[in-house]
Amino acid sequence: MKDNPVRAPIRMRYAMSLASGTSPSTALSAAHREADAFGARVLAEVGPPACAAGCSHCCEHLPVGVNAVEAQALASHLRQWPLERRVRVREQIAANAVRAREAAPGEHPNMACALLDDDRRCSVYEQRPFVCRRAHSFDADPCRRAAAGEAVDLPVDARIVAMYSQIATAFREASAALGGDAGSYELHQALDILLRDPQGDLSPARERSNEAMVRAAHAAVNAALRRRR
Ligand code: SF4
Repeated sequence: MKDNPVRAPIRMRYAMSLASGTSPSTALSAAHREADAFGARVLAEVGPPACAAGCSHCCEHLPVGVNAVEAQALASHLRQWPLERRVRVREQIAANAVRAREAAPGEHPNMACALLDDDRRCSVYEQRPFVCRRAHSFDADPCRRAAAGEAVDLPVDARIVAMYSQIATAFREASAALGGDAGSYELHQALDILLRDPQGDLSPARERSNEAMVRAAHAAVNAALRRRR
């Protein structure tokens, strides 16, 4: 399989960083920052999006996929919340996990994210996963219509969507190449598992996994690491 020319060098950078002892959570923060910096550069060029604090159309209905490091980071963040708040979010996560689990294969129930606050802001904004960080729109009205169930194209900058996806995939591939987890997991099911047991098996929450892609990335990273020794 021909390697992806954009993703390969990014993957290699994260693989080298992880191989030299950087913790997965530190590498994840660097990957989030790298993607955010790209997004900010594009937005500085084309103008600001319509997104604003309290506008939560996307969080009201879109599925959220997380990698294993994001799931662990979010679970450990939630564990530090005060008890009452923790119990409340825990119940909402469990309820959403049931709905996601019972949805037909490939479908997602039209439900608001359990991490959305009462004031419609993300309660884990600094830790939000790649898929949320890349969400943007230059007009809130199509977002509102999409949240209401209408099939509508959202006005986004394709470069931002593409680069976030490349960096997110490169990060998963680099983790997998070093023996980590390459999976992508449904947010609520993954958190439901990890909040019960921090060492819990995430496989029931698995969203999708391109095994051939991950195997090819594994081979490419390991060949490059061998060449550098
Ligand atoms: S994690 Fe935050 S940004 Fe992502 S869907 Fe949930 S509330 Fe929205």
